Amino acid sequence: MSTEANRYPERAYMVQHQIMSRGIHDEPLLNALRRVPRHQFVPPDQAPAAYQDRPLPIGLGQTISQPYMVALMTEALHLTGDENVLEVGTGSGYQAAILGELARQITTIERHAPLADRTQRLLQDLGYANVTVVTGDGTLGWPASAPYDAILVTAGAPHIPSALQAQLADGGRLVIPVGSSGFQNLVRLTRHGPRFDQEDLGGCVFVPLIGKQGWGEDERRGWW
Ligand code: SAH
Repeated sequence: MSTEANRYPERAYMVQHQIMSRGIHDEPLLNALRRVPRHQFVPPDQAPAAYQDRPLPIGLGQTISQPYMVALMTEALHLTGDENVLEVGTGSGYQAAILGELARQITTIERHAPLADRTQRLLQDLGYANVTVVTGDGTLGWPASAPYDAILVTAGAPHIPSALQAQLADGGRLVIPVGSSGFQNLVRLTRHGPRFDQEDLGGCVFVPLIGKQGWGEDERRGWW
């Protein structure tokens, strides 16, 4: 089947059997998952598998997250449509597109410039005018557009970067996988003035967050 064929039925099936069946029922989020053409965010040879229940390789040793994980993390941000959002770890841009459907303004930061450039073009072609891709070390956040109502980190961190906490608006939510190289806990921090409430949302496995307030370049050896 051509990758350009209408694949809406596959997305509707994905939403029902991978997302709703696991307890996610937020209608705007489900609709975003039905709309965004996930097969266009993966390399052509992976397009036939785009709606399967797993992460997929996107080049440079990176992955596009499993659809359920995208849904779970997005739901945890409690978006209502008016938020200024930072994503750390642009990758394919799929998560950024989902955020673009559900919030006002998205800044997404990627450390690999070629990946960032390719994804910026794709998001432009697909009409996501409210998503800006920048290149840099996302463990330091992106102060130019701060404060953020929501921050989503889509790579595994050894600890919560203080720069991201500092760029969170009052009442804002930070969702981030924190743990060892092989396994992390999905953590949500909610800011109340100077206080940060922390909740555990369950286990997950992500590629490493590499940067000044993440893993060092050397520590990642053996990850993939
Ligand atoms: N959200 C992506 C999946 C990301 S995979 C998607 O929807 O496809 C994790 C990404 O984080 C990789 O592309 C990796 O290069 C990037 N990354 C790792 N450390 C980073 C850092 N410090 N700053 C920005 N990006 C980082």
